[in-house]
Amino acid sequence: MSARWPIGVFASLDAGLGVKLEVAHELGVPTIQLHAPSQGVRTREQAEQFLMRLAGMGITLTAVFGGFEGESYADIPTTAKTVGLVPPETRAARTKEMKEISDFAKLLGCPVVALHLGFIPHDAAAGLYKEVVAVTREICDHCRGNGQNLHLETGQETADDLLQFISDVRRDNLFINFDPANMILYGTGNPIQALWKVGPYVRSIHCKDARWGANPGKEWGQEVALGEGDVGFETYLRTLAAIGYSGPLTIEREIPQDPVRQKAEVGHAVGLLEELKAKLV
Ligand code: MG
Repeated sequence: MSARWPIGVFASLDAGLGVKLEVAHELGVPTIQLHAPSQGVRTREQAEQFLMRLAGMGITLTAVFGGFEGESYADIPTTAKTVGLVPPETRAARTKEMKEISDFAKLLGCPVVALHLGFIPHDAAAGLYKEVVAVTREICDHCRGNGQNLHLETGQETADDLLQFISDVRRDNLFINFDPANMILYGTGNPIQALWKVGPYVRSIHCKDARWGANPGKEWGQEVALGEGDVGFETYLRTLAAIGYSGPLTIEREIPQDPVRQKAEVGHAVGLLEELKAKLV
């Protein structure tokens, strides 16, 4: 993976919204990020089998994403209530599970673990904010023991709030998985301006597109096929080059209920990104 910007795709085994591994292979994609499989699959044997499949397909695993039972992205308030490590009722169990996911990623030889932390409270003096800082430190320290970095998915915070949070956590293995579409979906700011701000922390990215909602921050924008939304992928790639990002371009298209369309649109996205890469050399 020495060349700049190897194409990637977000993939799933038995959990999450990614494409099946076979689809990644059929599309000729050289890297994947993996949504962590369910607990029963996170064993040493399954890890070894999975690594053999990856090797057979010539695919490199670049990150393992944590996700949890009970999370719902139905609308913005439901997301705030159910997603990540912010909701207090599920935090202890999910923290334990996130550490297990880090351990599973280590079995896969993967140096990056990532997640949606949830809606971090805006008020840095609030008790809940301090709790989220504390739990993020705990996960970072566990990842450190496994030789891993932790990447926070963007979207639920503005760039400024995210920078403040990372600075408050004070862990040098905490970075960002930048998703430009999420900034639009959640209405948390212009993604290109955000990318300039958080650039030094960006260690992995998603290539996903979306259109702004009518009431940004209150109602979802709409996720669309790459190239049809408001991200502006040529500007996005130019900005990635400018901030010095050379890692994978991981395509994410979250319509697993329509796998035929998902594969077609991911395939189209691969073509678009290859064209832009060639143009920007
Ligand atoms: Mg994403």
